[in-house]
Amino acid sequence: MTTASAELLSRLARPEVRDLPAYNAGLSSDVVRQRYGVTHVARLASNENPFGPSPAVAKALAELAGAAATYPDANSQALRSAIAERTGTQAGQVVMGNGSENLLEVLCQAFLSPGDRVVTLSPSFGLHDIYPRMMGARVQMVPVTPALEFDVDAWCDALAGGPQPPKLAMLSNPSNPVGCMLDAHAFRRIVQATPPETLLVIDEAYYEYARLTPGFPDALAELRAQSRPWIALRTFSKAWGLAGLRVGYGIASDEKLVQILDRVRTPFNVNLAAQTAALAAWKDPAHMEMSVRETVARRDALAAQLHALGVTMAPSAANFLFLNLQRANGPVAEGLLARGVAVKPWKERGYENFIRVSIGSAEDNALFLQAFTDVMGLAS
Ligand SMILES: *Cc1c(COP(=O)(O)O)cnc(C)c1O
Repeated sequence: MTTASAELLSRLARPEVRDLPAYNAGLSSDVVRQRYGVTHVARLASNENPFGPSPAVAKALAELAGAAATYPDANSQALRSAIAERTGTQAGQVVMGNGSENLLEVLCQAFLSPGDRVVTLSPSFGLHDIYPRMMGARVQMVPVTPALEFDVDAWCDALAGGPQPPKLAMLSNPSNPVGCMLDAHAFRRIVQATPPETLLVIDEAYYEYARLTPGFPDALAELRAQSRPWIALRTFSKAWGLAGLRVGYGIASDEKLVQILDRVRTPFNVNLAAQTAALAAWKDPAHMEMSVRETVARRDALAAQLHALGVTMAPSAANFLFLNLQRANGPVAEGLLARGVAVKPWKERGYENFIRVSIGSAEDNALFLQAFTDVMGLAS
């Protein structure tokens, strides 16, 4: 491509898009294998579920091949109804997404105009920042405390401040990447501090894990008691083991909110394989619960081993740990990759000394611990 046409394209793109940072999705396992000459890659960078989905998913997908020529149900009706039933919701209050990140995108497209204010957490899940900026919104970030906890007072100030109430307030509970959690009391304070004109978006991507941490709020019960707009987002990517197929859902305060989002999303945003697999997984909650219990036990075991080595970290209610290396994370992540271990070195300003490591299989966790001990020069 010529320089002239690159410059032209840059000018043709919306100014918001020109300056947008790319999502940091990390390297594929193939690239890691090739670049570092390793045979096995411990994938501990994306919070995937090492147990995979229910065995019922493989069966359902195998039976699907003959149906590939037909469009999926644009309303994901069977899946919506099943989710509504178990969560005690009306089907009309459930919205489906091509991953919950798709719902974050659609929320921003539906509600944000240039100049609108969005309040979110820092360090943050990248898309909580990128999608609002794509729409020209101003993103105000509320940092965690130095002890890596939610700063509830700062949240209340940010929500109440400014000449206009924020259009959206978006937070993940538990937080990604930190893993810290708002307990029921703190959650209530933040909900009550959110202006009634603000759409409150609670991203519960790690809900199934966090439920096992004492004090985790019943967000749906708390929000249903409010007369204000809200949406809680959950996903099949983490605890349900379906990250590759892209299914997430939202439970909304009103049918009206779902109708608005349905108008903005692409009509067939959840494909046939994704709907089929998610429904099969949803019907086997015992498998999901087993994987969550095991993962939480491994998380706590790994955290204890790291503590014993003198590593500091945030307490986590999710399926990952956020480690403070007290040194630049880039070379450490490189050293881990050279040993076949992929983690996520955090790139946000102020957090360049942190890595996020997902809890994987027992073997991969052991591989991580050994490689980390080597690379950091810790005594084991
Ligand atoms: C993983 C994650 C998601 C995205 O999940 P998908 O359903 O795979 O799009 C959303 N929010 C947070 C905070 C996450 O960590």
